[in-house]
Amino acid sequence: MSRFSGKTVIVTGGGSGIGQAAVRRFAGEGANVLAADRDEDGLAETLSGLDTSRVITRIVDVSRQDDVEGMVQAAVDRFGALDVIHNNAGVGCDGTVQTMTLDDYRKVMAINVDGVLYGCRAAYPHLKKSRGCIVNTASISGLGGDSQMLGYNISKGAVANLTRALARDSGKDGVRVNAVAPTLVHTGMTAEMEDDKALMQEFAKLIPMGRGAQPEEIAAVVAFLASDDASFVHGHVLSVDGGLAASTGQPD
Ligand code: NAD
Repeated sequence: MSRFSGKTVIVTGGGSGIGQAAVRRFAGEGANVLAADRDEDGLAETLSGLDTSRVITRIVDVSRQDDVEGMVQAAVDRFGALDVIHNNAGVGCDGTVQTMTLDDYRKVMAINVDGVLYGCRAAYPHLKKSRGCIVNTASISGLGGDSQMLGYNISKGAVANLTRALARDSGKDGVRVNAVAPTLVHTGMTAEMEDDKALMQEFAKLIPMGRGAQPEEIAAVVAFLASDDASFVHGHVLSVDGGLAASTGQPD
């Protein structure tokens, strides 16, 4: 497939997990890609085996507006336009209303929420020109509450509603905006958690498909939402969760 031939895509958090899989997916479908991350080694890993005339990397901290603006400009300078931004970089945040530190709260909001907003804002004029689109990475944790993850829940809820609210205005400019909302995906973010076998068995019970996702399964949906195949999908937060959101949570 070459749905993205001649198109330019930015992926944040492109040095690991879902973002790395998205870079490879978009590049595999013909796109020019700028992979952004704060992790230089991760970006080098992403780049390996890819055509460096079409895939470039950039060290970016998405919680810094100037970094994000520089990232967008770099993609436009190198490839001439911007068609897609996948605002995907994110971090976790553990704790309850009592145990979460406010420093951790501010950090998760700065990366997961401000970072997405900066990406949408900087990319928007270019996407308006190209009639391009935005795909944000939300989470199933933005659609309801989890135990012991309050800051993360708040941040991903904001990403989900930023996606819907932005779509309300951007449709008239021809800029589509959507998000994916994954449940457990086997990436760097979950590596530590996955050592807890009992917890993993609980996940397998809760998810009707009985397993977590591989990053490539999320990247494929991101590519669908970014493609012309989704030309009338707008303002949607798409659960990619093996059926989790469809379940009432009642025991078997
Ligand atoms: P990951 O840790 O493998 O990848 C996240 C990447 O984001 C890393 O390369 C990291 O360096 C980068 N990053 C973090 N902060 C950054 C910053 N300030 N600036 C630039 N880059 C930064 O995790 P992942 O699972 O691939 O996470 C990708 C997205 O998916 C995140 O938004 C995460 O919240 C979301 N998500 C993950 C899961 C899961 O179970 N893994 C589930 C739902 C949603």
